[in-house]
Amino acid sequence: MLQKASEGFGFDILIETKSKLPDINSDEDDKKTEQKSEWPTVEAQILQSILEYSIEYGIESYFKSRDLSENYLLDNCRYYVDLYKGSKMNIASRKASMNPRVVENLEKLVVLELLEFQQYTTNNNETSKEYRFTKLGRMVGLLLLCDKIKNIDTQTYDMVYSQIYDFYNSLKNSHSKTCLVFFDYCKEEEKFNVVLNYLIKLLFTASNNKEDFLNQIKFLNLVFRDSAMFQIFKKSMEHMKKYNREIYEMFMLNLKLSIEEKHEYKSRNLAQFEITRMKKFKDIDEVVLEGFCNFCHGFLVEYMNSLEYLDSYIQSVEPRDNVSRTICQRCSKGYLNFEIII
Ligand SMILES: [Zn+2]
Repeated sequence: MLQKASEGFGFDILIETKSKLPDINSDEDDKKTEQKSEWPTVEAQILQSILEYSIEYGIESYFKSRDLSENYLLDNCRYYVDLYKGSKMNIASRKASMNPRVVENLEKLVVLELLEFQQYTTNNNETSKEYRFTKLGRMVGLLLLCDKIKNIDTQTYDMVYSQIYDFYNSLKNSHSKTCLVFFDYCKEEEKFNVVLNYLIKLLFTASNNKEDFLNQIKFLNLVFRDSAMFQIFKKSMEHMKKYNREIYEMFMLNLKLSIEEKHEYKSRNLAQFEITRMKKFKDIDEVVLEGFCNFCHGFLVEYMNSLEYLDSYIQSVEPRDNVSRTICQRCSKGYLNFEIII
């Protein structure tokens, strides 16, 4: 397969931290209570502040790096607030001094697809860049905000919901369209905070490969190990099946392919798995699985309705429980476990 050239960093740069050791000048009592803590690195502080600017600024208009410094970073980015505390340097000099580092970070956000840019001609007839937040950029800015404030008020919550909705609405594929129906039902049942917390977790565990996070966002997981959430997922699928059959089928095909790929990967009976998969390739509601019988201790290939499979999967509290109610065809005594990997 073709490997895409790596840019060398991923979304991890937004959340990079460093340990802050207790202040050596503080007295002994302070030292005992002050724990070693994690702080965002200077670059992460600047990147986060830039993204937070999108919350008020929005996604419609372009901005220039120096305006960003003057209108937001100097007053809101902790690093710059501390840097210029008590300084006599005027605003123009501060902006000039900040600019190389600010531009460098703006460019990183362009690579991560959180910003886009256009070129313009300056008064000195030079070419320069101005930037605009993407829908994903403002969404990530809001996720960072939600992580900071913990107790989210209704107004912020609605703003976050709208931005996430707007982002998925712009993707126009079957997964994103299914996400929209799912989000609607989550909101109706006051469960959207589960999705929100999951998105925040994805951001704060992002790797140094930007495609990883972009793919996790694009194919956002809608199957949570939680019965109430799974009922919402099932309801969303029923809605899609009834009102948007084509999207439903595309979504179910994606689901089938991704589950079957996982089973193929750990298959111990690949010859049988391939034959069954070929037979069932047109049944997009069904998945071919390889299970392990807890009675005769053999691997058996089975197929079942994809949603029923997921239902039994999330109902098993312990991952090593019997995850299905499917009786082994060979011994007719055991149950097939589709998750066991030996
Ligand atoms: Zn058996």
